[in-house]
Amino acid sequence: MNFSICLPSPLILRLDDVSVQKKTVIFRVSSIQYQAVCPGCQQLSDKVHSRYLRTLADLPLSGLAVRLLCQVKKFFCRNRECSRRIFVERLQDVAQVSARQTSRLSRIICSLAFYVGGRTGAKVTERLAIKVSRQTLIRRILKAPRSPISVPRVIGIDDFAFRRGQVYGTLLIDLERRKAIDMIPSREAEDVARWLKQYPQVEVVSRDRSPIYAAAVSLALPTADQIADRFHIVKNIYEVLEKILHRERKTIAQVSEEVRRTANRISRANQSPIENKRFKQPKKSKSAADIATEEIKHSAARIRRIEKYETVKRLRIEGISISEISRRLRMHRETVRHFLRCNEYPEIKPAFKKISPLIKYQDYIRQRWNEGCGNAKQIYQELLKLGYVGSYDTLMRFLRVWRSDLPKEDRLRIRLKTFRTPTAREIKWWLLESKPKLDEEKSRFLELLQAREPEIGEAVKLITEFRRILKKGNENDYENWREKVRQTTGNQELKNFAFRLGKDDRAIRGAITTDWSNGQTEGQVNRLKLIKRQMYGRASFEVLKARVLFAEVD
Ligand SMILES: [Zn+2]
Repeated sequence: MNFSICLPSPLILRLDDVSVQKKTVIFRVSSIQYQAVCPGCQQLSDKVHSRYLRTLADLPLSGLAVRLLCQVKKFFCRNRECSRRIFVERLQDVAQVSARQTSRLSRIICSLAFYVGGRTGAKVTERLAIKVSRQTLIRRILKAPRSPISVPRVIGIDDFAFRRGQVYGTLLIDLERRKAIDMIPSREAEDVARWLKQYPQVEVVSRDRSPIYAAAVSLALPTADQIADRFHIVKNIYEVLEKILHRERKTIAQVSEEVRRTANRISRANQSPIENKRFKQPKKSKSAADIATEEIKHSAARIRRIEKYETVKRLRIEGISISEISRRLRMHRETVRHFLRCNEYPEIKPAFKKISPLIKYQDYIRQRWNEGCGNAKQIYQELLKLGYVGSYDTLMRFLRVWRSDLPKEDRLRIRLKTFRTPTAREIKWWLLESKPKLDEEKSRFLELLQAREPEIGEAVKLITEFRRILKKGNENDYENWREKVRQTTGNQELKNFAFRLGKDDRAIRGAITTDWSNGQTEGQVNRLKLIKRQMYGRASFEVLKARVLFAEVD
């Protein structure tokens, strides 16, 4: 095989020999450059001073680590005015001046450090036969050159929690180039303003609705257009619905109860008793052969244990220490002590067989089951009243065995669902998602809820309309919408929301009339969170920053 194709740069390296030592492939190579440029004076020289060996780690080969033992030359500088007398030839493309890895390996390590992070990265390198420590990877992240920030014209700002929500930072995004450009470890108005002042050319700033960022932008860039980020506006109005639903939690509970009652009625009506013979017999009787095998196994184990018991006693009489006995016989020290305390071989007590707390109620469960009730929660409630002391899980396991033994149509039939009272947040999504996947009970619940509280349906309509205006409406629509909320709706939460919009009016209009805020900020913050999570939340701000900004410049 021609191994030269494995070399990083066959143009300047010649392969002399290949060998394998302890899972490492060693390529002996020499540089074939006959002249080199002096780094002091940039003049060529071909006068060789000496040769020496350089060791470089390279990309692994079929799971084996690879080392290049590379013979390189030192040259005399012929320029008398140059301060250097001797210099080492550069191995362009192969490796940096004093590097211990080839450049191509170094690039891979760098990517691993950035994309996977220190801890996981170190594990991966081990698998790849590169093996780099976590600390080295983190140093790589911190030392990597950063591309200069290109002057932004349109930027997005958003905050993120760092270290379990105790410390906050600000992420700055170039919305035109779709790049995270910087991170600062603060979300205070002065700090953000200080950063913004570096870029007086910025024309548009997209931000959330907090007064802090609004103040920072007004302070640092008084002429820039401020746009409220659409993502944040939508988030705010969704929260309004959540508040309304929270206020209506009593009605929600009542409607849920109603849904439960109807569901039970319907499914009872559809059910006929399930025949007794379909019950699985839980205990299979053991065959005589099985019992015999078990007994043989048991007695063999007993004999081994008796032998151990006797050995322990004997060794102790010989004056050997307890810890030494436990080491020699590979026994726990406590067992050795136990044996020594006994006057005769201690038989192992048969394991205590737990009697299921369900046994007493088996007949009752069977009766309910045959009546068509296979719902574990329902049965559990009934059993509690009868004095059952076992857990719900025990009952579940018990029923699962029966259920799995039934034909499919019966299994579906007996799955009597209890409708759980949903949270305000859940209902919010059911109501606002464009195509929510709702089963029969949920749809019925929404229907009943909106019939009972027309205010909710009205709010949903207004919120959906507002969302549409944000997406593709104009200032006129926005004006009308606000007027409608002010005049017609009786909903105080929505009125308050519309009032607050008025206070941030220019930024809201900006969001409607320009295309600048389109959830990009959200995407960038999510990416940041993902990287942060990969780092197990222990990362320093600087490492996190380097990683967030890196993948953007790559
Ligand atoms: Zn020179």
